[in-house]
This record gives sequence, C-alpha cells and structure tokens, in this order.
Amino acid sequence: MRDDNCIFCKIAAGEIPSATLYEDDDFRVILDLGPASKGHALILPKEHYRNLFDLDDELAAKVMVLAKKMVNQLKDVLGCDGYNIVQNNEEVAGQTVFHFHMHLIPRYEGDQVGLGWKMGELTETDKEEILMKLKK
Ligand code: 5GP
Ligand code: ZN
Repeated sequence: MRDDNCIFCKIAAGEIPSATLYEDDDFRVILDLGPASKGHALILPKEHYRNLFDLDDELAAKVMVLAKKMVNQLKDVLGCDGYNIVQNNEEVAGQTVFHFHMHLIPRYEGDQVGLGWKMGELTETDKEEILMKLKK
C-alpha cells in the first residue's frame, strides 16, 4: 500500500534521499528536516497509513519496540538527558504530513523545546460521561 502523492512514501522507499539512521523491511528512521532539537528523528512505516486511526495492528506494536531501540541507542550518541515521543493525528492535533510517523525528540537540560499543555481539571461530569459511553 502506497500513495504516489505522499512524500513520506517516497522517503521511506528510498526514492527521495534522507538522513537514514535505521532501516528494516517495515520502517525507515530518518532525521527530521525541521528538528525541535538536535537529533530529532522520525519513524516512518514503509507502507502508507494516514495516521494512528488506520495503522495496521502489527506495525503499531512494532513501532514502539523500534522507538525503544532507537532512543536507547541515540541517547548515548547524542548525550541527551531525556526523550519525548510525539505522534500527531489529524490537522487539529498538529499533523502536517499525512503518512503515519512517530517523532523521537531528544531533550537536553535547559532546551527550549515547546511541548506541553496547560493542565485542566477532570470534572465529575466529564468522567462519568466518558466512562459511561465507553462501556456501551
Ligand atoms: P507532523 O507535524 O506531521 O507531526 O510532523 C511532520 C514532520 O515532518 C515535521 O517535524 C517536519 O519537520 C518533518 N518533515 C516534513 N517534510 C520533511 C522531509 O521532506 N524530510 C524530512 N526529513 N522531514 C520532513
Ligand atoms: Zn505515504
């Protein structure tokens, strides 16, 4: 499965050159061209999936195992102090390239990487509503 208009399909297939950190039959891991911090990488499946909503189950499981392997290697190479794993789904959530990808963002003490949100408060109404609807 691929989408001929998708840039990440072309990168994953090696048709567009990229700084590749790792490759296997299912995935290519590349350096992001607009890094949030030094070493920001993206895991791309070789097959086209728009995002997590339609990602194949087997690949979904494999991608986290690969993320673990990559961050363990990269933290030694980069000397970073932590990692954020970010994965955006749909425009409202910040997705700009509509081919599933997982961001591996190294964090360094004192860096200016802007990830986060203003904490709200879980209301009883929201809690009850969500739990009730999910049980249906
Ligand atoms: P999103 O916002 O969809 O979660 O993330 C898309 C990411 O892809 C961004 O961090 C952006 O910098 C990166 N990106 C977009 N086009 C290219 C490209 O052609 N090559 C590489 N290596 N990264 C890209
Ligand atoms: Zn694609």
